[in-house]
Amino acid sequence: MAVKTLLSEDQMPKQWYNIAPDMPEGSLKPPLNPATGEPVGPDALAPLFPMSIIMQEVSTERYIDIPEEVQEIYKLWRPTPLIRAMRLEKALDTPAKIYFKYEGVSPAGSHKPNTAVPQAYYNKEAGIKRIATETGAGQWGCSMALATQMFGMECTVYMVRISYGQKPYRRSMMQVWGAEVFASPTDRTNSGRAILEGDADSLGSLGIAISEASEDAATHDDCNYALGSVLNHVLLHQTVVGQECKQQMEIAGVYPDIVIGCIGGGSNYAGLAFPFMKDRLEGKKNVEFLAAEPSSCPTVTKGAYTYDFGDALASTPLFMMHTLGHDFIPPGIHAGGLRYHAMAPLISALVDAGHMSAVAYGQTEIFDAAITFARAEAIIPAPESSHAIKAAIDKALACKESGEEKVILFNLSGHGHFDMSAYDAYLSGKLTDYAYPEEKIRESMAKIPKMG
Ligand SMILES: *Cc1c(COP(=O)(O)O)cnc(C)c1O
Repeated sequence: MAVKTLLSEDQMPKQWYNIAPDMPEGSLKPPLNPATGEPVGPDALAPLFPMSIIMQEVSTERYIDIPEEVQEIYKLWRPTPLIRAMRLEKALDTPAKIYFKYEGVSPAGSHKPNTAVPQAYYNKEAGIKRIATETGAGQWGCSMALATQMFGMECTVYMVRISYGQKPYRRSMMQVWGAEVFASPTDRTNSGRAILEGDADSLGSLGIAISEASEDAATHDDCNYALGSVLNHVLLHQTVVGQECKQQMEIAGVYPDIVIGCIGGGSNYAGLAFPFMKDRLEGKKNVEFLAAEPSSCPTVTKGAYTYDFGDALASTPLFMMHTLGHDFIPPGIHAGGLRYHAMAPLISALVDAGHMSAVAYGQTEIFDAAITFARAEAIIPAPESSHAIKAAIDKALACKESGEEKVILFNLSGHGHFDMSAYDAYLSGKLTDYAYPEEKIRESMAKIPKMG
C-alpha cells in the first residue's frame, strides 16, 4: 500500500478556489467603517495593499488564475505530499484511515509561503519596492522574507521583542533571505515611540508590531503592508493545498469523512478545507469539518460572533468574525501562531452557518499528541499543527470505540524544528497548562464595539 501520494509539477492547480460565491446565502457580512457603520469600499485598503489584492479580497469569481511567475516559485516545493499515517493508525490500533497533507516541506517550514509568494508578486507588479510586515514567532516573517527575496524586493520585519530574543534562528533565517529585522517596539515609528515612552522595556506584542508595520507602509509610497492570515485573499491563496489534496485522495481512491486543521487566523485550515467544503455546500458530500484551537486563546469555542477590529489599536475596519476582543493578549503558549484574538470572517461564517465546528485543547495534551505522532510518523510537528494532530487522534480513537472505518484527513501545517525549546520544556516536565483566562476575556469582550 502506498504511504505517499505525490503529484507531478504539471498537476499543480493553475487557479485558486474562491469560496465566496458558494457561501450560504446571506452569510457574508461586509467589513464596516467604525466611524460611520457603513460598508467600506475597496479604496479604504489602498494605502496598504495593491489594487490587484484588494480585488481578490472582494472577488466573487469562483476560480482565479495563479500567475505563472507564482507557479514557478511554488514548484520549488509544491506539489506537497499527501501521506497515509499507517504507522500512527497501527499505534492507535484504530480501524480509521488517517491521512495528512504535509506543508512543512516549504523552505520556510510551513504553509505560509503559499500566500507570501503571490502577495510579493502582486506588490512588485504594482511597482512596490519594499514590504513591511510583523511577525510573532517568526513563521510569517520568514515566509515574507523568502518571497520578497525571490522577486528582488526589500523586506522590513517588525518582530515582537520577546520573540526576537527567544527565537534567534528564525531571525537569522529572515536575514539570510535579505530582510531587515527590528525588535518591536522600535523608535522608527510613531506607534513604537509612543509605546517606548510609556515603557522603555516593553516586550512588544503582535498588535503593536502590526501597528508599526502598517504605519511604515502607510507613510512610504514605495512600501506596502502584508498580512499572513485572516483576510479573504490569504485564504484564497492557501486553497492550492486543498485542491492538490483532492486530486491526491482521488488517486488514493478515498474521500475524507472528516477534515481537520488547526486555526490561528484560519488560513491553513481554510486552504485544506474549502475545496472539500464546496462539495458539502453543493450537497454532494456530507463531510464533517473540525477546527482545533488552543484553550488559552479559544476564539471560536468561547468568543462572540460579532463585528470587531482586526488589530489591538482599533485602527482597521470592523470585521464580522469570532473574537475575544481586539485588545485580548493571550498567554504565552508555545503555539505562537495560534495567538490571535479573532478568526477569518470566512471560517467564522461557516461555523455560524453550522458547516464547521471547533474544539479547544490545552498545551500539554497537544504535546502528548505531537510526541505520539513523531514517534510513529517520524516528522516532528509544529506546536500549532499538533492541535490538528490531537483532534485527528481523538477522532481515530472514537472510531476504535465504534468500529467505524472513517477516513480522517488533517493538515500538517508545519514542522517544529525551530520549536525545540518548547519540546525541551515538555520533555523536562516544565511545560504548564494555562488556566482559561476567563477574567481577561470578559474584560476585552466588554470593549467590543456595538454595531448593527
Ligand atoms: C502561522 C501558523 C499557523 C496558524 O495560522 P493559520 O492562518 O490559522 O493557518 C498554523 N500552523 C503553522 C505551522 C503556522 O506557522
